[in-house]
Amino acid sequence: MGEYHIASSVEDALEKLSHCNGRAEIVAGGQTMMLLIRQGLVDPDLLVDISKIDEIRGIQDLGEYIEIGSATTYAEIKKNSIIKKEFGFYTDATSEISGPQVRNQGTIGGGLVYGDPALDTPPVLLTLDAELEIQNSQGCRRISLEDFFVDYYETAIEEGEILTKILIPILPQYSGGKYRSVTPRQGDYAIAGVCVRLTLDIDGVCTTARIGLTNGGDTPMRSRRAEKILEGSEIGEGTIEECINVLGEDLDLIGDVQTSKSYKEMVFKRIARQTIKEVKLELVGGV
Ligand SMILES: Cc1cc2nc3c(=O)[nH]c(=O)nc-3n(C[C@H](O)[C@H](O)[C@H](O)COP(=O)(O)OP(=O)(O)OC[C@H]3O[C@@H](n4cnc5c(N)ncnc54)[C@H](O)[C@@H]3O)c2cc1C
Repeated sequence: MGEYHIASSVEDALEKLSHCNGRAEIVAGGQTMMLLIRQGLVDPDLLVDISKIDEIRGIQDLGEYIEIGSATTYAEIKKNSIIKKEFGFYTDATSEISGPQVRNQGTIGGGLVYGDPALDTPPVLLTLDAELEIQNSQGCRRISLEDFFVDYYETAIEEGEILTKILIPILPQYSGGKYRSVTPRQGDYAIAGVCVRLTLDIDGVCTTARIGLTNGGDTPMRSRRAEKILEGSEIGEGTIEECINVLGEDLDLIGDVQTSKSYKEMVFKRIARQTIKEVKLELVGGV
């Protein structure tokens, strides 16, 4: 490996990246990057460490939005009272990430930029309609998280760009959600994960439904067609079954040595059904 630069600001990091004669990479918590380097899959001439940049660390309540700096660690998110109050199910999902070592070092930004469909929290952020702020040497651009995930391990971030902020709009009244996953062993990556976020009106009719999936396809994804089945309904048993069937059609699964495709599909359907019911029940009690 070549030079290691600890950036003091976003401007400093961008400047360093743009002047590198060779391959430059960004590192935040290093939980993925160090593995890639150790396995010889990446061999950068320059590694720019953004983990000490204050302007992209921390969580702020901006009124309509909660802003999370991209270099904020999972451990910081997990213990943050604003996140817990506004999006308790995101706090719960963050608690499911591996063990303390990964949560203490891994960052929200690193987890998003790598584009791994197996991670727990990107689908939760999809259900929260999160937006991203990305900075490059020309300025700043905004993109929805959904548009950010392009393909298998491919995101909309370009070379020389830094993801700086994640913006999550405050949820309307009568909203709630839950993330549920199934793992082979505690601390392992999930075989399947489903996050359901619902917003109801005063009469208990669903106005907004979001269903985010971990390992449901090539990217962290939503089942938009399944969401549409729930919207406009009171989410009775029949609607839930229709929604689950459509969700099954939206999955793009492959079997592997541990788990067959049909088993994965069964797991997705089972946890989705359970999660929709639980979120609805929790909300109906509150309407
Ligand atoms: C042992 C182990 C167990 C794990 N278990 C789980 C689990 O159960 N659930 C789960 O969800 N995840 C799990 N993970 C994955 C973990 O969530 C990711 O490794 C972590 O989120 C990556 O964040 P990082 O800050 O360490 O990123 P880094 O490794 O520093 O970077 C990852 C990638 O993102 C790029 N990057 C990072 N930040 C930025 C930025 N701000 N702008 C532009 N590019 C950037 C880097 O260049 C690199 O390509 C596990 C990881 C390990 C090592």
